Amino acid sequence: MSEQIVTRFAPSPTGFLHIGGARTALFNWLFARGRGGKFLIRIEDTDRARSTPEATQAIIDGLAWLGLDHDGGIVSQFERADRHRAVAFEMLDRGAAYKCFSTQEEIEAFREAARAEKRSTLFQSPWRDADPATHPDAPFVIRLKTPLEGETVIEDQVQGTVRIGNDQLDDMILLRSDGTPVYMLAVVVDDHDMGVTHVIRGDDHLNNAARQMGIYSAMGWPLPVYAHISLIHGEDGKKLSKRHGALGVEEYRDMGYPASGMRNYLARLGWSHGDDEVFSDAQAQEWFGFEGMNKSPARLDFKKLANICGQHIAATEDAALLQELLAFRAVTGQDPLTEQKINYLSEAMPFLKERAKTYPELIEKAHFCLTDRPLQVEEKAAKSLDPVSIGILGELTPHLQNVSWTRQDLEGKLTTFAEDHGMKFGQLAAPLRAALAGRSATPSVYDMMLVLGREEVLLRLADATGNGAS
Ligand code: GLU
Repeated sequence: MSEQIVTRFAPSPTGFLHIGGARTALFNWLFARGRGGKFLIRIEDTDRARSTPEATQAIIDGLAWLGLDHDGGIVSQFERADRHRAVAFEMLDRGAAYKCFSTQEEIEAFREAARAEKRSTLFQSPWRDADPATHPDAPFVIRLKTPLEGETVIEDQVQGTVRIGNDQLDDMILLRSDGTPVYMLAVVVDDHDMGVTHVIRGDDHLNNAARQMGIYSAMGWPLPVYAHISLIHGEDGKKLSKRHGALGVEEYRDMGYPASGMRNYLARLGWSHGDDEVFSDAQAQEWFGFEGMNKSPARLDFKKLANICGQHIAATEDAALLQELLAFRAVTGQDPLTEQKINYLSEAMPFLKERAKTYPELIEKAHFCLTDRPLQVEEKAAKSLDPVSIGILGELTPHLQNVSWTRQDLEGKLTTFAEDHGMKFGQLAAPLRAALAGRSATPSVYDMMLVLGREEVLLRLADATGNGAS
């Protein structure tokens, strides 16, 4: 009988959801979702000075935008401090931990002497094996009794076998003298109580794993499977910093990258499945595993991100894409659209979504149906509306009053009209683009005409030719 997979994302709420955290969350989500498991969220908010409710909210919003749904309620680590404390005392009862009464000065003196004698400066408490009868009535910390010999071996799914000599590990403090549990204890107790089976996190936590394993073993708890994933570096190969720009997922949201493309791209940062670059959530969930993970740091590549996002936009169903676009406009504070413009957009979606890498690019292509009459004509487009061209558009207008409004008939009509006037189609298309969109670069004139409909096209032509604009 195989146990249910449980993963978790455990951010510290000291800022936004950064790109590395988002990738960690995604890996945990993919791993759990692809195996019928659970994906839990724990907010590691024990650092009261640095944790803010706004940061927690930003992380939750970021996860929601990315579409990483979690199971159960969100666990607050801080609220579980009593339980962490209780486990520290339980370790005491089991003889796996001890009360240490050494003062700061004594510890410092130990270290100085060790330095002078060129011994390890890791503190060795004189209280480790002291008879409780000799304990003073004084403040104490609780320390873990780390084995003095042997080694701690992390069988990491990404980093391989990592061995740390136990003589490198001191008897770490579990409970401070003011009774507050340390972070390392909190993580283990929470992971155990939440039933976490797989810990997938950044490799900056690899050293912590060795210490955390000591707590599991002291409590006789089963170890989780560890997978420490390589960090993300900037395009220049250096560790990510503000200099690289766009560190928070909300920045990607605001730049108009679709969440599905973002998931796809983030999945490829440090993991691969053969040569597959573009895939769906279902495929990612099916394929995702430790085998495809890369030990060396992944590099951010905005070009690749844009490419993948473009392919996701093109593959999204029109109706769903329209909703995504409206949500993007709302979240970036753009005015709501009228019903008519929404209808235009929905009609235009099949051709708008081709080759748009972001929502703003798509909106840019949709300019012709989002703009209002009388159109603002851009300088370059205005050049196509010279008196001769205006005359030609004036002549074209009656032909458009009766033609049946289908692509085929419009194409026939415009082609014949251009031929009859000894013009290349491009010569007719340029003033038409200017009249219908106020721009020189637009979607095809037929696409625009079909979306706008006869009435609106005639009104725009009248505006451009100065004939009876309403
Ligand atoms: N709170 C830690 C962080 O934000 C993660 C701890 C863990 O995953 O064990 O880096």
